[in-house]
Amino acid sequence: MLNGSKTNITVLGGGFGGLEAAFYLRMKLEDRANITLVSDRDYFLFKPNTIYIPFGLDPDKLKVGLQRPTRRKNIAFVEDRAREIDPDARTVSTEGGRKIPHDFLVVATGADMRPEEVPGLKENAQTIWTPREMLRLRLALYDLIEAARRGEHKRVLFLVAPNNKCAGPLYELVFMLDTHLRRKKVRANVDLTWSTYEQTYIQAFGPRLHEVVTGEFERRVVAGHTEYAAEKVESGEVHYTNGETLPYDLLITFSPYVAEVDYPTLPGDDRGFVETELGTRQVVGHPDVYAVGDAGNFPVKQAFLAFLQADAAAEHISSRVLGVEPELAFEPTSMCVMEQFDKATFAQVPLRLTGVPERPIEVDPDAPEAYKVGSYPAWRLGKKMLAYYLPFRFGLGNPFHAGVPWKGMEAGLKAMSGLLAK
Ligand SMILES: Cc1cc2nc3c(=O)[nH]c(=O)nc-3n(C[C@H](O)[C@H](O)[C@H](O)COP(=O)(O)OP(=O)(O)OC[C@H]3O[C@@H](n4cnc5c(N)ncnc54)[C@H](O)[C@@H]3O)c2cc1C
Repeated sequence: MLNGSKTNITVLGGGFGGLEAAFYLRMKLEDRANITLVSDRDYFLFKPNTIYIPFGLDPDKLKVGLQRPTRRKNIAFVEDRAREIDPDARTVSTEGGRKIPHDFLVVATGADMRPEEVPGLKENAQTIWTPREMLRLRLALYDLIEAARRGEHKRVLFLVAPNNKCAGPLYELVFMLDTHLRRKKVRANVDLTWSTYEQTYIQAFGPRLHEVVTGEFERRVVAGHTEYAAEKVESGEVHYTNGETLPYDLLITFSPYVAEVDYPTLPGDDRGFVETELGTRQVVGHPDVYAVGDAGNFPVKQAFLAFLQADAAAEHISSRVLGVEPELAFEPTSMCVMEQFDKATFAQVPLRLTGVPERPIEVDPDAPEAYKVGSYPAWRLGKKMLAYYLPFRFGLGNPFHAGVPWKGMEAGLKAMSGLLAK
């Protein structure tokens, strides 16, 4: 212990995983630990709702300042960029020249995009990742609608690139764009085409989501293509490894994933994602270092999974500090609500690692009762509730996925999914 009898815990990253871990640790350990949060920006970004930016949402509405909640919970907030971890010396070096010591470390610095993996993608496509890219897409959609209003015929091609680890948001965007164009009365002048490297639509979430997407593509007249892995992109057309070529006037893509920060002193896969023990999120070979959320090597990258991982890591650390058994471990059940503007699709998906590199994840066949899917307009309300609940919890310095309010949310979701999903 570095400071008297208190345990020193450092959390890297002020996103879903980092904040959930820091606030959960404070809730569990009360004043038994010094907690430091290091983040390269002074706000949390509610990334899932950046899908609304191309359709007019102000990006500032998705930010939660970090000063107030960290002060409230007596968490030292350091605005700086983590650069290197020395697991033996138990320190983190930052770009600002700090050396921050710890007893336990939680790495939650998230993921980044590498469009350069597909030649021509970066130069020719609208990419979705940051609010800035979403604003750029807003301008492109504005131009598209103006051209369609003038009577021009336009082709929009969507592309999930190989090694993308969270295809869901691009599926949301194709459905949302279809509804939006219909409402603007220009859908007849715009062809929508979908292409993905996946073998089935939203492959990680199994056959039920594939069925939903297939039905939606039919209803919305979207031409869909699976097993189309992009090989190179040229102005006006995409070439795929299966020999096919698809034309476009506007190309919208979700790029290959890599880790936001590569930590050479920690074991990582070929994309820099930190190797972890599944249940505890401990980094392999470094039991006092944990990795949660997009930064870790779990093959699906999702905010809800980041919460579950952060809770598991924080529970494990606090149980070690308190000398008790942990009450929970990471059990990968994904939960999401996919926006479509005219309705939304709820999915709860129990996942299982397969150990097969080409298809690392599958729906857990031993938990069929937990696999639930439903598409109704009422699910849009679920998405809206989350948009209020999450900033409310984080704004007060409380974990999202714990405590009495979550029990209430969970009960609400259970009731809704009992009626509106099967
Ligand atoms: C458009 C879009 C829509 C999505 N929709 C959904 C959805 O509907 N449901 C869902 O579950 N998931 C969704 N996701 C995925 C979800 O946003 C991510 O899985 C989630 O943000 C991961 O949380 P995280 O804490 O690991 O990373 P992040 O939320 O990215 O947080 C990482 C944090 O680390 C900070 N950081 C980065 N580098 C450093 C450094 N060197 N030092 C210090 N701090 C650093 C960053 O500033 C950031 O605060 C969506 C993603 C996108 C892009």
